Amino acid sequence: MKVMKTNSAYDIAVCGGGIAGISAALAAAREGKKVILFEKQYMLGGLGTAGLVTIYLPLCDGFGHQVSFGIAEELLKLSITYGAEDRYPENWLDGKGERTQKDRRYEVQYNAQTFAILAEQLLIKNGVDIMYGSYVVDVEMTDRKIKSIYIENKSGRTEYTIRAVVDATGDCDIAWFSGAPTNTFKQGNVLAAWYYYANENGHKLQMLGASDIPDDEKTGKEEKPLINRRFTGLDGKELSEMMVLSHKTMLEHWLKKREADPNAVISTIATTPQIRMTRKLAGEYTLAHTEEHTYFQDSIGMVSNWKKRGPVYEVPFRTLYSKDVKNLIVAGRCTSVNETLWDVMRVIPCCAVTGQAAGTAAAMTDDFSTFDVAVLQSKLKQNGVVLHEKDLL
Ligand SMILES: Cc1cc2nc3c(=O)[nH]c(=O)nc-3n(C[C@H](O)[C@H](O)[C@H](O)COP(=O)(O)OP(=O)(O)OC[C@H]3O[C@@H](n4cnc5c(N)ncnc54)[C@H](O)[C@@H]3O)c2cc1C
Repeated sequence: MKVMKTNSAYDIAVCGGGIAGISAALAAAREGKKVILFEKQYMLGGLGTAGLVTIYLPLCDGFGHQVSFGIAEELLKLSITYGAEDRYPENWLDGKGERTQKDRRYEVQYNAQTFAILAEQLLIKNGVDIMYGSYVVDVEMTDRKIKSIYIENKSGRTEYTIRAVVDATGDCDIAWFSGAPTNTFKQGNVLAAWYYYANENGHKLQMLGASDIPDDEKTGKEEKPLINRRFTGLDGKELSEMMVLSHKTMLEHWLKKREADPNAVISTIATTPQIRMTRKLAGEYTLAHTEEHTYFQDSIGMVSNWKKRGPVYEVPFRTLYSKDVKNLIVAGRCTSVNETLWDVMRVIPCCAVTGQAAGTAAAMTDDFSTFDVAVLQSKLKQNGVVLHEKDLL
């Protein structure tokens, strides 16, 4: 295949434009670096927009303390610039009401399409070059560093030479191409079929397809999977079959709904597979669900648990890289955590927290394993991130 070489020089390639990629690209560009973002679809936001997963889960611990800050909070506010679809957190944003265990958590439901456009404008305003329709398909290595990445789009195959790479593909594709250690979701994902429908009362998110409950959290009262098949999310044929099954499920569901509500129409379907956990990095540290309230000297920020009030996790910088590939850092669903914590770390605020750290770090070094994390932490703090639970008010 003929390979074109681009004349444009970039410091950082962010691969994937979901919440993690948006956060990483924004953070790196704000540090004055030349950033290019490759996204295989034609909109930003990944599962958070094209996947119709429009609930920005909590930035707080559920006991009234905000734990995720910086770009995680900036994007939540951006997502509701023109109003929330549901779950408006007035006790956080308008200062109405208490922020206690009984009150609403700091989360919101937003409009996917508006959020995608606003995120695009934000990145462009900050100088990020966005390349849509561009699938990252391979890398070239020298001396345990990624020297070039290869993308394919309407123009064919193009090589980009870069200094540092952020893997925000959600599937750890770049780590996989470069030979960094990864692991996959053993039990596989259930089918999901979230869609929007509209009727005379407006449009509404229909959530179809339960989340996978880790074995140690099962109560016996879990929602039954839609079908008796699981998906890895890493096989082209399987993903196409999954989309077809998902569409079929939506249609059947809507036809039933229409019997009771004749005005209901399907208004939006997802344009990306609704798959939760696929492949993640086996980084220098793997954070476990049991490590709630644990102090980590190299914390890059904190996340809470969307499933229950209380737990707070400091996220060690070491969960974002492997020394096997020196200039590669991951974010979002690719972060190195154990299987139980994966179900927590994969959600939107956590993707923004890890994305901001990955992008900021990529602006500062091309060797993450020898990098002085204190320099990164000081920059993150300057940009509003609180690193440790002991520093919460
Ligand atoms: C059914 C379902 C329900 C969920 N519910 C919620 C919820 O209510 N609230 C919540 O906060 N989270 C929820 N989540 C999880 C959450 O939406 C996602 O995990 C999160 O948005 C992931 O962000 P990300 O940036 O890490 O990955 P993604 O959103 O997957 O983004 C990765 C991006 O990279 C692109 N990409 C992938 N590979 C390549 C490549 N090789 N080259 C170029 N581009 C590439 C993709 O097109 C995509 O845009 C849910 C997930 C699912 C599936």
